[in-house]
Amino acid sequence: MPEAGPERGDWRRIVSVLSEARRVALLLHVRPDGDSVGSSLALARALAKLGKEVAVVSADDIPAALRFLPGAGELRRPEEVSGPFDVALLLDCGDLERTGPARRVADGAATVVNVDHHTSNTRFGDLAWIEPETAAVGEIAWRLVRELGVEPDLEIAYGIYTAIVTDTGSFGFSNTTPATHRVAAELLSLGVRPDEVARRVWEEKSEVSLRLLGRALASLTVEAGGRVAWVRVTQEDLAAVGASPDDAEGIVAHPRSLRGVVIAASFVEDAPRRWRVSLRSNGAADVAAIASRFGGGGHHRAAGLTLEGPFAEAARELLGACRQAAAGGGPDPEGAPA
Ligand code: AMP
Ligand code: MN
Ligand code: MN
Repeated sequence: MPEAGPERGDWRRIVSVLSEARRVALLLHVRPDGDSVGSSLALARALAKLGKEVAVVSADDIPAALRFLPGAGELRRPEEVSGPFDVALLLDCGDLERTGPARRVADGAATVVNVDHHTSNTRFGDLAWIEPETAAVGEIAWRLVRELGVEPDLEIAYGIYTAIVTDTGSFGFSNTTPATHRVAAELLSLGVRPDEVARRVWEEKSEVSLRLLGRALASLTVEAGGRVAWVRVTQEDLAAVGASPDDAEGIVAHPRSLRGVVIAASFVEDAPRRWRVSLRSNGAADVAAIASRFGGGGHHRAAGLTLEGPFAEAARELLGACRQAAAGGGPDPEGAPA
């Protein structure tokens, strides 16, 4: 059992509120990722096994790469659920607004429970449990499953494992700990096939997403002596290859992969003159702090936000902040000459 404490929250009360609840709604964050979807589906299944009435509620579709997960087909739209829930459980949501229109379900619930790992978490809800140092909420959700006394099955294991694989970049990000690997080992023991998850999650790209990546890479801009790199996908790019903004998921990995980069960014125009921004740091700079200044949030090394306006104007201030933070970070030992 993790240490309870005022800064983390009250684990015991969360376990007992969930144990006693009859109707539980699990709310995904907008543009749900593997951690949000995998943790929520796994916990939904665990709660259903305890005889509870459970709904997984999402404003947005589950991305195609995650639809293999057991229970993905049972997602409910916010307008499809009715009646009050005893508990609204939000996993992997840094703030209540990240649920988008699904927030309505939280507003009507008797108890709102916030279980998360974002450094920028606003501590919303009646009960909160925040572990910023934990790689994925999947790890916390796994502990919850066990403490609720549920016998884990393969479906639960796939959800948790996928949550961990996606938030750790297949155990390659610095958030990966011995505990992460220990949970993963238990999940493999239950029968999870790591090759299957890797293939579904990373290796089944659509043709349009590859064509879109080509256009994004053509926009690669390197600034600040190689310390800042970014790519951009405009509405015109999307239209040219017949892609949707979700086909640009993950493109920030490419500017991030450039040797010597301190901060990488991607800008995706998901509606005319609205830019969905992903920020990544090599560790020297805190991109959650930058994102928070622009109304977003996230983690030290991975954060996001939304900007409005024509690109040059919308991005000017943010890129200035990135250059400043990247300059202050000290030279990357592996870095390119400045
Ligand atoms: P992404 O770049 O979309 O993969 O997001 C990186 C991290 O930042 C994730 O942990 C997100 O939850 C968080 N994040 C992304 N966009 C936002 C936003 N608009 N507001 C708050 N947090 C965000
Ligand atoms: Mn997430
Ligand atoms: Mn997460």
